[in-house]
Amino acid sequence: MPRLRIYPSRTVYYSGVLHTTVRAIRAAFPVCVFVLYLLAFIAAFAMVFMLPIGALGLVFVSLMGLIPVVMVWTILGMLERRLARAKLARGICPACGRPARMRARGDSASAYACTACECEFTANGEDIALPDPTPA
Ligand SMILES: [Zn+2]
Repeated sequence: MPRLRIYPSRTVYYSGVLHTTVRAIRAAFPVCVFVLYLLAFIAAFAMVFMLPIGALGLVFVSLMGLIPVVMVWTILGMLERRLARAKLARGICPACGRPARMRARGDSASAYACTACECEFTANGEDIALPDPTPA
């Protein structure tokens, strides 16, 4: 009698764990960058009185720092969408990780909605934010 495999393989398991980790990093990334720039602003404001050229240099470094920030943000998004597509292909919700049934949305055939947590995803794995519940 063949052994019944209940748990996913290690590759599938670590892919899911990696997606959850990347998703959490991507969720916290904008706040981390904002705090870094806030600290840079405070340091630049203090430097105006002590070392004006340092404040000017800090402004230049902050502007040039936007390039790697946007690159990291783009790479994280690409990685998250790729890992989410793998979960969607297995019928697992990328948000809650439960083996929920993903149903096609009514208004668009290329998007999925989880029946368990109501999160919605496009066919390329992009997480669609829930619509604003407050009326306009
Ligand atoms: Zn879900």
